[in-house]
Amino acid sequence: MPSEFRGKHVTVAGLGVSGVPAARVLHGLGAHVTVVNDGDDERARVQAADLEKLGVTVRLGAGSAAGLPEGTELIVTAPGWKPDKPLFTAAREAGVPVWGDVELAWRLRGLDGRPAAPWLAVTGTNGKTTTVQMLASILGAAGLRTAAVGNIGVSLLDAVTGDEEYDVLAVELSSYQLHWASSLRAHSAAVLNLAPDHLDWHGSMEAYAADKGRIYEGNRVACVYNVADKATENLVREADVEEGCRAVGFTLGTPAPGQLGVVEGILVDRAFVEDRQKNAQELAEISDVNPPAPHNIANALAAAGLARAFGVSAAAVRDGLRAFTPDAHRIAHVADVDGVAYVDDSKATNTHATEASLAAYESIVWIAGGLAKGATFDELVAGAAKRLRGAVLIGADRALIREALARHAPQVPVVDLDRTDTGAMLQAVQEAQRLARPGDTVLLAPACASMDMFTNYNKRGDAFAEAVRELGA
Ligand code: ADP
Repeated sequence: MPSEFRGKHVTVAGLGVSGVPAARVLHGLGAHVTVVNDGDDERARVQAADLEKLGVTVRLGAGSAAGLPEGTELIVTAPGWKPDKPLFTAAREAGVPVWGDVELAWRLRGLDGRPAAPWLAVTGTNGKTTTVQMLASILGAAGLRTAAVGNIGVSLLDAVTGDEEYDVLAVELSSYQLHWASSLRAHSAAVLNLAPDHLDWHGSMEAYAADKGRIYEGNRVACVYNVADKATENLVREADVEEGCRAVGFTLGTPAPGQLGVVEGILVDRAFVEDRQKNAQELAEISDVNPPAPHNIANALAAAGLARAFGVSAAAVRDGLRAFTPDAHRIAHVADVDGVAYVDDSKATNTHATEASLAAYESIVWIAGGLAKGATFDELVAGAAKRLRGAVLIGADRALIREALARHAPQVPVVDLDRTDTGAMLQAVQEAQRLARPGDTVLLAPACASMDMFTNYNKRGDAFAEAVRELGA
């Protein structure tokens, strides 16, 4: 048990998925833990009561996090807390360090003298979960003890403090988590892409990019970047890495030496082979990637890059990709009805994800709309105009998309649905069916958040699938 926490006064900022386990673990290590939490609802009270039974101090309600609790020597924050909160200003003034959940997990690796599994880390605006799951599947196919951790499946804290032993971890990291993870040093890491997102939290695109770029700091073997996204390459250039660590690009085109890419339908590695100038290693076929949409091939190449950096064989890359099935609502093929494919990409909650989704099909009836979160749609619509057979718009901010369609794709028929009740999705799907021709794809890729009409994107996707089933019935 590391002595550094014994007797230390630690303030945990925020209950919830990361705060409760963090408070428990720190308390178990002998720290004096105080939890502060803005909310004071039923759930928070139940969580607080459980922690108080252990001897943890909990302060609930607005104002509980207004200042630094007396004697605080360290703050462990939930990743979502904005850096401009008074608590953090007070911490800065008092010289008190602030760690996020990832930083805490990183510092607790090797607890009890166990070997600390290296981390292969992934961030990016879109594709993180998919890539990390592909990576875990590949590592598993190589016979390594591993798990996809972070925002998915096992929490990082559980992975480093639990009983299970791992050879290597496939770690998904958000920009918030990276913001609060100053000493993290991954074995190798990938930034998949960089598009404006969460800018209100980070303050600016530069700050957002800088937080994402932190994932490359101190990498030992490879910094994997997206050749098609210059910003990711720039982050590699700016990072301070270990001697000998390499920049490895992935591309949907023919790879240059030092890159992974695609040649005649085959995913190939020209980075982790002898004599990269002349040689390339075949990894898998495009058809081994599920679904074989362009952005998903990119995810597969990034996952393969990290796995190869860890020394995994080409055969294991292929087997791991074949064994992978994507999570629900990510370009999920729901059904074919009268020669039209119905595809649920409800997880496409921003324009960058939707752009990738629209690029994957030739002729599309697009169902879109919801909460725009400040996004604009001109670029998205202009890029996809040629592929659109029609559009059906739903949700609070649908006018923004309608106007973009009018500007950039005036020939595309648009159905604007002015209803938000539970039957709205059924009507949207029926309208889409009316617009579609055999061979088309009806694609739910809303480019917006769902909360104006649904509890979350899962429920939105479920409603879509349900509506499609009614069509076929
Ligand atoms: P994240 O964990 O980053 O949110 P997911 O793997 O859950 O990523 O995918 C989120 C959405 O982003 C999906 O709807 C998918 O269509 C889209 N997407 C996945 N990979 C990419 C990519 N490489 N580039 C752009 N969009 C992508």
